[in-house]
Amino acid sequence: MKQNLLIGLAFHQQCRVVIVNTKEIVQNVTSSHQTTPTASAVLGRTLTAGLLLSSSLKGEEKYTIRLSGNGPIQEVVVDATAKGTVRGYVSHPSVHLPPKPNGKLDVSGAIGTQGLLTVVKHTENDLNFTGQTPFVSGEIAEDFTHYLVTSEQIPSAMGLGVLVNPDQSIQEAGGFLIQALPGVSESTLTSLERQLSTIPSVTNLLKNTHDLELLAKTITGDKTFQVLEYREVSFACTCSLKRTEETLMLLGKNELQSMIDEQHGADVHCNFCNAHYVLDEKDLTRLIRELTSQKA
Ligand SMILES: [Zn+2]
Repeated sequence: MKQNLLIGLAFHQQCRVVIVNTKEIVQNVTSSHQTTPTASAVLGRTLTAGLLLSSSLKGEEKYTIRLSGNGPIQEVVVDATAKGTVRGYVSHPSVHLPPKPNGKLDVSGAIGTQGLLTVVKHTENDLNFTGQTPFVSGEIAEDFTHYLVTSEQIPSAMGLGVLVNPDQSIQEAGGFLIQALPGVSESTLTSLERQLSTIPSVTNLLKNTHDLELLAKTITGDKTFQVLEYREVSFACTCSLKRTEETLMLLGKNELQSMIDEQHGADVHCNFCNAHYVLDEKDLTRLIRELTSQKA
């Protein structure tokens, strides 16, 4: 089992710290979507943010995260669950921009400097809570930090990084989230802010070590950092033939009949994992029969 996410406490239990190495997940998702390096950075940063946020969920809870911006990629969507699974896609995976003058991939140019970050929390009893904040910069980590501070009112800091090799494979990917716990002192927040302004970028930190505890100590500057638990996080898609059939049945008998008449079947594509579910006339007729028997 690969323990790629660490949860711990820093500053005498005044802050919760989460560190995640998402290299394999980002590699897996970006190669299945054939994203350009810029799109890989947008998608990889958002997948990483999703895993950081979902580390505080319980049971069957999950988050759906959507960034809609004025850049050419337009939109990135990520689902992340309490179980540590994540999936995601960008609307335009082939968008690529030249690197910025500092050599970094132009994430804000691709997703946009103006837009909305929407976070939907799906709870166990099917209640949804939606929070939404405007972009701060389109660099994604700052946008999530702003969301957490304004929408959830938790003093927070997030760092995200994706480094892409010349052959477009992922060299490094990961991130951190630091959140103040109730009762945090002003002096802790001030020293944390000062500390975070001195650390190298997430990808440079990951280039030095993949030891998550060491990374937590380096980022927080707190040698008394305390490990709570290690977890395994991974890519997983929840689509299936059964779910596809359930979705088709929601369209109703008339719509299914016109699919039979006009297309002689249905080809349903999953945006998250690129799976295709092909149903022929017989399958659709069976769904209509099931709908009829449900109503009887
Ligand atoms: Zn899927």
